[in-house]
Amino acid sequence: MRGPALLSRQGGEDGAGVGLCCEGVVHIYPSPEGDVVALRGVDLEVDPCELVAVLGPSGSGKSTLLGLVAGLFRASAGRVRVGGADLARLGPRQLLRLRATQVGLVLQGAGRNLLPYADAVGNIRFAQRGRARGSSRAHVGRPGELLDRLGLNAVSHQAVGTLSGGERQRVALAVGAATGVGLLLVDEPTGNLDRAARDQVVELLHRLNADLGITILVVTHDPAVAAAVPRTVTIRDGRIGSEGRRGREYAVVGQDGSIQLPPDLRSAFPAGSLVRVRRQGDRVELVREEGERP
Ligand code: ADP
Ligand code: MG
Repeated sequence: MRGPALLSRQGGEDGAGVGLCCEGVVHIYPSPEGDVVALRGVDLEVDPCELVAVLGPSGSGKSTLLGLVAGLFRASAGRVRVGGADLARLGPRQLLRLRATQVGLVLQGAGRNLLPYADAVGNIRFAQRGRARGSSRAHVGRPGELLDRLGLNAVSHQAVGTLSGGERQRVALAVGAATGVGLLLVDEPTGNLDRAARDQVVELLHRLNADLGITILVVTHDPAVAAAVPRTVTIRDGRIGSEGRRGREYAVVGQDGSIQLPPDLRSAFPAGSLVRVRRQGDRVELVREEGERP
């Protein structure tokens, strides 16, 4: 069972990957023109040391989800747990401590995460200086070592404002990991990058995950990024949809019993289709009702 394993693993303090769990998470932004429901009951569990992509179009709720898991703001309803801690039960100081020691957030637009006039080493030093006691960075190493390990030594002494978009994004990821966090939340890391730069960013996500043991949740609208990681969940209109693992697509059954189909089945079963569900032993078969109109 995944739940108890997650709860027994506080993570972070020893540099181990930190898991997360969202249960029925709803988020509403109040606005004068009417409330915006950004998340409509999101269930998502990520085990320690997993690398997971959340794939969805613009406006589907990806950044909102990251902000909630990072503890930047609180969910309107539902539960968010990080490393076993229920974020709703943490006070502002405890939330700050969690963010400083266990959870790193790399915002969309690499430059927003960096001091432009400092080089990569300076940016890492700055991030590590602000690190609260309680996080271990023994496994991360000194700035130069970390950059070497991540294949960034060639750019470690260049002001980050003068780097290419791809280089800057990779430095932002290194800085995000440099404080010894066990969970790294990454928002649209390949936004304006060409294919080669995108592939390097994806490779770095794998390295951070495999070599440093950091759990990574990356949100993206780019199917190529999602295809390059072991597990992908899709998000649409604030709901988690289908799920893919190692090239296989799965349907997802929501808590209200609704089923989200993987993209390749959606054309065969358009919205509104009448579908019969047949059970064959431990297998389930979907059959479209003949002659029905969507
Ligand atoms: P994504 O990151 O997938 O593009 P967001 O999480 O940014 O999606 O936004 C989800 C929905 O919430 C969108 O409809 C967006 O317009 C709305 N939204 C996001 N931030 C705010 C905000 N601060 N105030 C009001 N609505 C917001
Ligand atoms: Mg976004």
